[in-house]
Amino acid sequence: MPCAGSRTGQKTETNRVKKGNNRFVIMTIPYDSLSLTRKLISFKTINPPGQERSCAEYLGELLREGGVTVSFHDFDEGRTSIIARLEGTGEKAPLCFTGHMDTVPLGTAPWDTDPFIGEVDGDRVYGRGASDMKAGLAAMVIASLRLAKISDRIADFTLVLTACEETGSKGAEHLARLDNVLGKPGAIVVGEPTSNYPLVGHKGPLWLRATTTGVSAHGSMPLQGVNAIYKAARAVTKLEEYGFDMDPHPVLGSPTLNVGTIAGGVNINSVPDRASFEIDIRTIPGMTHSGLFRHLQSYLGEEVELDYLLDLGNVATDPQNGWVQEVFDIMEPFLNERPEPRGAAYFTDASIFTPALGNPPTIILGPGEPTMAHKTNEFCYIPRIEDATEVYFEIAKRWCAA
Ligand SMILES: [Zn+2]
Repeated sequence: MPCAGSRTGQKTETNRVKKGNNRFVIMTIPYDSLSLTRKLISFKTINPPGQERSCAEYLGELLREGGVTVSFHDFDEGRTSIIARLEGTGEKAPLCFTGHMDTVPLGTAPWDTDPFIGEVDGDRVYGRGASDMKAGLAAMVIASLRLAKISDRIADFTLVLTACEETGSKGAEHLARLDNVLGKPGAIVVGEPTSNYPLVGHKGPLWLRATTTGVSAHGSMPLQGVNAIYKAARAVTKLEEYGFDMDPHPVLGSPTLNVGTIAGGVNINSVPDRASFEIDIRTIPGMTHSGLFRHLQSYLGEEVELDYLLDLGNVATDPQNGWVQEVFDIMEPFLNERPEPRGAAYFTDASIFTPALGNPPTIILGPGEPTMAHKTNEFCYIPRIEDATEVYFEIAKRWCAA
């Protein structure tokens, strides 16, 4: 259950850890999860440019001091991901927790508080990344440090903290390309914001750019040109009527399509010779992105040229999986109800990790509020951070401890 105690200022989390001969020794962790959340908010990891290195070095040091083996992996200058590992006897496949260190920009609206100090007000902690997802990171790190104090582990535990999730999972992609750094986990927990509701998957994003071309002419003589915006408008109207012609997935629902941007033309008095728009498609199991791409290209015809912007898979874990049901058991008292199988509206680094690691069961579960992600005056409820710390530790302990 949630640990009680002061919700402001730094405190020390103390654990009684059983050592041989039933002797108990007191091991200390220099942070509680709220204090660590506030510390992590103070690192400016707004992406772009990201620059996660100092946050990564800080967390790496904290984990090392707690007895966790840490390696750093840069995919670009200052773009550092961490893989932290606790060894077990190997009787069981490893358990993997993952989260990202970068945040989205502040936006143009002014904030009521400094977004980088982790201001606490009542039961909320404010700041950029509070919900998405520095609270989740903090809870995962504290749970990992507690797990490090348990000596009889039958499975390895891996904590993967990525750079550059917000602009297309580049840190995760880099790690997945490296040989043998991620191991072969038997299950994955992604700490993205879910208000501590365990979700069993999400749709896969397929982002496309559509381009139309024409012939420029003076705006007073449109018959001498070919208008690229008219072509784009016809295509956008066709897309509004596009049907996917497939049954909804029992958990993830139906695929969706949205035209998110459109641009074209140089000035009012010219016939535009180029226009483009961007399409955000979210797919469900049973769809192949290459097949959908070809279908859309033929649906829109030769007037339109499609290109890939992002192509990541969906994640759909069987809710009846034994480990998923065990996580539901753990969550039931925290939620005051048994969780139902549900999916996340957004996508996560699991789109990279889950298929790259052999499709182990994957749960998205984190203390942040999904409705707060990317917003001005972002906050996270403090009791949820405390609950998530307990929950993560319990999940890790049941998997890894003898
Ligand atoms: Zn996130």
